[in-house]
Amino acid sequence: MTKVSTALVIGGGVAGPVMALALQKAGIVAAVYEAYSSTADTIGGMLTVAPNGLDALALVGADEAVRSVGQPMSSMIMADGRGRQIGEFPGLVGLPPSRALWRFDLCRVLRDHAVAAGVPIHGGKRLVNAEESAAGITARFADGSKALADILIGTDGIRSTVRTLIDPASPGPRQLPLLNFGAISNMTVPARPDAMYFVFGKQAFLGYWNQPDGRTGWFSNLPDPTPMTIAQAREQSADAWLRRLREIYADEAPARDLLAHTEPENLTSFGSMEIMPKVPRWHRGRMVLVGDSAHAPSSSSGQGASLAIESAIQLAQCLRDLPDAPSAFSRYESLRRPRVEKVAARAAKTNTGKALGPVATRMMGLLMPLALKTVMKAEKTLGAEQRFRIDWDETVGV
Ligand SMILES: Cc1cc2nc3c(=O)[nH]c(=O)nc-3n(C[C@H](O)[C@H](O)[C@H](O)COP(=O)(O)OP(=O)(O)OC[C@H]3O[C@@H](n4cnc5c(N)ncnc54)[C@H](O)[C@@H]3O)c2cc1C
Repeated sequence: MTKVSTALVIGGGVAGPVMALALQKAGIVAAVYEAYSSTADTIGGMLTVAPNGLDALALVGADEAVRSVGQPMSSMIMADGRGRQIGEFPGLVGLPPSRALWRFDLCRVLRDHAVAAGVPIHGGKRLVNAEESAAGITARFADGSKALADILIGTDGIRSTVRTLIDPASPGPRQLPLLNFGAISNMTVPARPDAMYFVFGKQAFLGYWNQPDGRTGWFSNLPDPTPMTIAQAREQSADAWLRRLREIYADEAPARDLLAHTEPENLTSFGSMEIMPKVPRWHRGRMVLVGDSAHAPSSSSGQGASLAIESAIQLAQCLRDLPDAPSAFSRYESLRRPRVEKVAARAAKTNTGKALGPVATRMMGLLMPLALKTVMKAEKTLGAEQRFRIDWDETVGV
């Protein structure tokens, strides 16, 4: 195999457009193929892009576009079910604040940025198969069309088709005993505009933050041992979920009020929280994985999107500097795997805490102030994750 000059990027979510932009910067011609024809999404999928993610986005000139739709979040404030503040994770010294934004806004600005840079993004192209030959790799789509390039990159998310094409025995996402909800409440609660609040309630965890329009975004992680897909969760009406959540948070502030002012159409249920177990094979032949398809550390990490963005940039750098796809893919995996597995391990600890049940959750709330002063200091916990920087001008060696 010779130096890579063309690529098919499968999936136009977060990693896909960044991947294509980074390949363009590396001198490789790329096009994105996305299963859905529209970028429309429902409300509720909120995420944060951490300083490391913003820094990686700057390498493809997309950081300002993302900042323009994200709210700066300088601090994470922990509270108990009575609304009492029990500790704070301040932003790390010298780093810009993370940005909180709706996932559909993030995807939209990244796609717009890629299109403006001349990247072709084809909608309605669901990959179903891929065949390798001496000439390259041919992607086959559900609509009967096909495309050929030197390599195929799977930025197709946690339910990746490319992952199965690389290794039919690869694991799928694992569901955790935590149900995930996101919503907007039509009320403002007393809160700092630059802080995300995390409440260790009696029965469930709640996160919230004030929005510039006077409303409040919130998400809930509710311990529940029954695995539930998004589709199964949406078989129940939003009304029914709201009733259950209102009972659970009935005597907790400010959850009770936030839920009382939430309309069913502004609640999204995601089913069980999901993580990707360790994926043994990230690449085979002309195919490679980037983002959630290879490493989805769960939403509790606050790093899924940022890691996906970093991985895209570092793969492009490897393809730029190494003589062929196999050596670039191997080097990419060796650069990325230790980092993403470390983040996943931290998120797993957070998830265990959230799924503990009422007594242990209350204990966690009680122990949090001490933990924040000792083992969980912001720099110690988040420093390595958020201070990570990619030096684009550095040549990647074998
Ligand atoms: C509730 C929730 C909260 C989260 N909070 C955070 C957070 O605070 N911080 C953070 O960094 N991350 C967070 N994440 C995770 C973050 O959303 C993901 O890590 C990130 O979106 C990964 O990007 P990706 O491009 O790999 O996958 P995705 O963004 O999922 O994109 C995959 C794309 O591939 C397309 N696709 C799938 N199959 C095919 C196919 N066969 N052919 C063509 N296209 C296909 C999909 O339609 C989709 O557009 C959260 C996730 C959830 C669900």
